[in-house]
Amino acid sequence: EPAGRRPLIAGNWKMNGLKREALALADALLAGAGGAGGRGELLVCPPATLLALVGERLKGSAIHLGAQDCHPKPSGAHTGDIAAPMLADLGCRFVIVGHSERRADHGESDALVKAKAEAARAARLIPILCVGETLAVRDRGDALAVVAAQLAASLPAGADGETLVVAYEPVWAIGTGRTPTTADIGAMHQALRAELKRHMGTEAERTRILYGGSVKGSNAAEILAVPGVDGALVGGASLKADEFLAIAQASR
Ligand code: PGA
Repeated sequence: EPAGRRPLIAGNWKMNGLKREALALADALLAGAGGAGGRGELLVCPPATLLALVGERLKGSAIHLGAQDCHPKPSGAHTGDIAAPMLADLGCRFVIVGHSERRADHGESDALVKAKAEAARAARLIPILCVGETLAVRDRGDALAVVAAQLAASLPAGADGETLVVAYEPVWAIGTGRTPTTADIGAMHQALRAELKRHMGTEAERTRILYGGSVKGSNAAEILAVPGVDGALVGGASLKADEFLAIAQASR
């Protein structure tokens, strides 16, 4: 990739896993990661309840720890929420913000996602900012414009190249087994890079833009070979060590 962007293979475990399963998965990833090959940097994002446990197990390894969400404020009276400095304190390096499931289930707006991304950066976490169109928008032919606008509205202030990751995840491709054509993925990544350049200038060349939505071992090589795709955000397939490692192996 230009600008030396190292691929990032990120597993989003979503609301899955009890302690025993999580440790078994972490151990299987640790056992396989060394021999997996592939140039990708590996990241797992367990649910908040498992961050401390999995973080302890992964400590000192090449597999990074990330969270799935954070609150926009650093502390305070927000029952049940988790602040970015708390995640950093557990050893997280990354945090997903604006996943479409949170935008849908919790009504998160672009403005809130932007505030969360800024909170993450203030805590020295790298936000993985998720954007993506619905099927209705794709069918209308508006996907490029709508997703670029979503990115512009949720981009954290002051982000430079490496302290931000963007994930393009078409809502209709998440958990469905359907993926866009490689041409459509390439066109979207090009549009998102252009949008980043408008805001960040040449720093945009250093920002990784991931693809997410039904990535698995058998389609990873094709998707990761699309120009401008700097890695994958993986949901379902990240819960199976062999699938996740196969995706890692496909990263060049
Ligand atoms: P999926 O989810 O890989 O299960 O489609 C991707 C995501 O939501 O990040």
